[in-house]
Amino acid sequence: MQKIDLILLKCGEISLKGLNRPKFEQKLAENVAAAIGNLGKFSIKKSQSMLYVEPLEDGINMQEAVSRLKKVFGIANICPAVRCDKDMESIKKTAVECMKNIDCTDRTFKVESKREDKKFPLNSPQISREVGGAILKNMSGLKVDVHNPDILVQVEVRKEAYIFAEKFSGAGGMPVGSSGRAALLLSGGIDSPVAGWMIAKRGVKLDAVYFHSPPYTSERAKDKVIDLAKIVAKYARNINLYVVPFTDIQLDIIEKCPKNYLTVIMRRIMMRIAEKIAVQNNDTALITGESIGQVASQTMEALYCTNSAVSMPVFRPCIGMDKEEIVQISKKIDTYETSIQPYEDCCTIFVPKHPKTKPKLDEIIEVEKNLTDIDGMIESAIENAEIINI
Ligand code: ATP
Ligand code: MG
Repeated sequence: MQKIDLILLKCGEISLKGLNRPKFEQKLAENVAAAIGNLGKFSIKKSQSMLYVEPLEDGINMQEAVSRLKKVFGIANICPAVRCDKDMESIKKTAVECMKNIDCTDRTFKVESKREDKKFPLNSPQISREVGGAILKNMSGLKVDVHNPDILVQVEVRKEAYIFAEKFSGAGGMPVGSSGRAALLLSGGIDSPVAGWMIAKRGVKLDAVYFHSPPYTSERAKDKVIDLAKIVAKYARNINLYVVPFTDIQLDIIEKCPKNYLTVIMRRIMMRIAEKIAVQNNDTALITGESIGQVASQTMEALYCTNSAVSMPVFRPCIGMDKEEIVQISKKIDTYETSIQPYEDCCTIFVPKHPKTKPKLDEIIEVEKNLTDIDGMIESAIENAEIINI
């Protein structure tokens, strides 16, 4: 495996920002430091829409650093670099060695050089020409394409020389924390972790709320949600997970409301609780994993009734996606295997056989009057929530 001496991060969309760009870059640098900080000491320097990440001590696992950086939003590309002596022989030799680690069969390449040290005897085009010649001579199956190369080899001559040949795609999006905060209703299913990931990708910091109904939902169901929050947190930085006790409210709904309205009323109360927790955390939106028509509680009429319970904007990034498309993302972000573990969810217990697919809001509001002191129950559920820092 190739050794890595330095990692160059190319910023994505934030490089298009105007006057606010330094703020976004600062946030990205902070998130990069948080992602790799416990691997060892690093220097992180900004320069022209790029971040240079350099280890300041020996023995740091740089491969692990690269794999963590692939999950940091705001990065378009990740280019690991190898350092070498500042003479043409070393530069050429190192560039050829770097190419040997890459699959070059039937591919094209181009060398680009930057000479920061103007005392270096060759200028940038000369460096590129020499390095390109050495690569062509030592590697078969490669052709030069100066317009649209498959592989871009970059040589930078600074205090030392650096060769960049590999390039990985970054996670894209905007640095988490650069676009405010929202509260994610996180269940143990497939959809809500994907929904949280999608909104975090746009730079939004997440809090998460999980409704837990012991003894009807087990500790293992709760652990599964904690595991999902941990996976999402690899992209979204730290998350406060609120585990809200929901049993008393659910039992009261079951006792006082017609069966076919259970799910939508339960969903409305979840939204009201999540909104209050959101306000406490300065979150300005809620996020759910709902998708039109996926189940009876996600028909257009049911979504209307759920939405009417709160005044905060509700983001539903999966709303127009087919289940298969959501599954694809969950596999990509590594939540799928955890989501499909078979522990029960509080919505799957007591599910009515014939839920109303076209619930009427005025009827629901009437039925909800039967609930015992619902405002008090909501307050007490929030007071008794367990907060887990993930
Ligand atoms: P998911 O795969 O996200 O569980 P789902 O298809 O199972 O979604 P529902 O159970 O109808 O759908 O839930 C719709 C949305 O309501 C979820 O995406 C989630 O945002 C929220 N939700 C459902 N149950 C809970 C829960 N126990 N705690 C927190 N949020 C929940
Ligand atoms: Mg669910």
